[in-house]
Amino acid sequence: MFPFDNSYARLPEHFFRPVLPAPVAAPRLIRFNSELADELGLTLDAGDEDRLAAIFSGNSVPVGAMPLAMAYSGHQFGQFNPQLGDGRAILLGEVVDRQGRRRDIQLKGAGPTPFSRRGDGRAALGPVLREYIVSEAMYALGIPTTRALAAVATGEAVYRETPLPGAVFTRVAASHIRVGTFQYFASRDDQEGVRALADHVIARHYPELADAAKPYLALLQAVASRQAALIARWMAIGFIHGVMNTDNMTVSGETIDFGPCAFLDEYDPKKVFSWIDQRGRYAYANQPGIGQWNMARLAECLLPLLAETEDKAVEEANAVLVEFGRVFQERWLSAFRDKLGLVGEQDGDLELVNDLLAQMHDSEADFTVTFRALGQAVEEAGEGGFTALFTDRPRLSQWLARWRQRLGQDRDASAIRSAMEGVNPAVIPRNHRIEEAIQAGLSGDYGPFEALLAALERPYEERSEFAAYRIPPEREERVTRTFCGT
Ligand code: AMP
Ligand code: MG
Repeated sequence: MFPFDNSYARLPEHFFRPVLPAPVAAPRLIRFNSELADELGLTLDAGDEDRLAAIFSGNSVPVGAMPLAMAYSGHQFGQFNPQLGDGRAILLGEVVDRQGRRRDIQLKGAGPTPFSRRGDGRAALGPVLREYIVSEAMYALGIPTTRALAAVATGEAVYRETPLPGAVFTRVAASHIRVGTFQYFASRDDQEGVRALADHVIARHYPELADAAKPYLALLQAVASRQAALIARWMAIGFIHGVMNTDNMTVSGETIDFGPCAFLDEYDPKKVFSWIDQRGRYAYANQPGIGQWNMARLAECLLPLLAETEDKAVEEANAVLVEFGRVFQERWLSAFRDKLGLVGEQDGDLELVNDLLAQMHDSEADFTVTFRALGQAVEEAGEGGFTALFTDRPRLSQWLARWRQRLGQDRDASAIRSAMEGVNPAVIPRNHRIEEAIQAGLSGDYGPFEALLAALERPYEERSEFAAYRIPPEREERVTRTFCGT
C-alpha cells in the first residue's frame, strides 16, 4: 500500500526518537489528494474514506512505516533554541515516487512526541486548512514546496485560548531536514553527527556533489543557491513566509511551514502579517537578507568540514554568503524582467523594475492585479486597467513610455502578453479567501475550502467561474494579522 523505504530511520539513533501516533476519537476525512498519492505510488482506494481517515489521522499505521520524531534545533527570531524537534509531527517514512524521487510522508498534529516540551502535539483545524491551501497553491504556481496529501478532522478539541476543532495534516516533502537539523548536532559538538547528516543530505538531495573535490563546501554552496533562487520566487509572487526561523528552512530548497504566511495585497516592501513578528524581522523585503543570515548559520555548522584551517573555512563560507547575495539578485531581477515581459538583459532594467515598484507602493496598488494588468497594457488600447491602479498618472505615463521602448518595436504584442501571463498569476491564495475558507470549515462547511483549492489549481489562467478569486479584498476585508496557529 505504501512502498516505504525509510532511509532516515537508518541514520544513527540519536537523530530521532521512535514514536507512534496517538489515536484520535472520531477521524473524518476532509480531503485526500489522490493525484499526489498516485505520484507517490501509494495504492489507496480514494473511495474508502473511513480507511483513509484512519491512516491519515494516525489511527492506523501502514505496514512498513517506522514512525519517528526528528531531532532539530533552531534560531527562532534570532534566538538559538538547542532543543526543538518534531513536537507535533511524526514522520511515517519515505517512499520513492514514480519519478524516482525520495519523499517523506509526515503526519502533523498526530500527538505528543519526546520533543513536545509543553505542547500537546496536536494541530487545530484552521492551520491545517491553511497549510493545505497554501502549499498546494505554491505547487500550482510552480514554486518548490512541500505538498498536502491529506487533511483529517480528529473529532477532538484542541485547547489554545479557546477549544478548537482538531485536525491532522499529512505533509509530503523531499525531506524534512532543516538548517536547524545541522544546528542540533553542531551545537552539541557532535562532529560525527554533522558529517553523517551532511553525507545523507548529499546522497539524498545533491548526489551530483558526492564526487566533488570539496563535497561539504559544494553542499553549502548548493543549499545557498537553491534557497536564494527560492526566495527570489517568493518575492516574485508577493509571498511572505512569516517565520523564517532556521528550523523552518529546508536544505532541499522547498518552502516549508505555512504558519503565519501571507500574500501581499497592496504592495508594501515592509509588509508584515505575523502577529508574533512585532519587529518585522520577517517582513517581505527582509526575506533575502534573512535567507542569507540562515545560510550563515548553516555555514557555521559545516565550518569544521569546509577546510583544513579555521581561517580558510571562514573564508570559504564567506564567499558562499556573498554568492548567495549575487544569486538572489540575479534570480530576482530575472524573475521581474519576466514579469515585465523584458527579453534579454539591458542596462536600466533594474531601475525600470524598481521605479514601477516604487509607484505601486505610493499608489498602494495590488501586487498581483498590477502585474496581471500590465500584460494587457502591452498594447496602448489595453492600458486602462493598469493605469487606473495608480494615483500619479503623469509619472506613470513616463514609466509606460520607457517600458514600451524597452519592450521593442518589432515584438508581437500578444506573444509578450501571453509570456507575461505565464509568470504573473491571476489567482493567488488571498489572505481573506483563506480566512473565509477556514471560518466556513470551522462551522463544518468545506465548500469554500474546496472552491478555493479549485480556483488555485491553474493560477495563471483567467477562468470565468473563478473570476471572484482574482479580486483583491475591500479595505474592510483585508486581513491584517496572521497567527502561527500551533
Ligand atoms: P513551528 O512554529 O511549527 O515552526 O514549530 C516550532 C517548534 O514548536 C517545533 O519544534 C514544533 O514541533 C513545536 N510545536 C509547535 N506546536 C506544537 C504543539 N502543539 N505541540 C508540541 N510541539 C509544538
Ligand atoms: Mg517549524
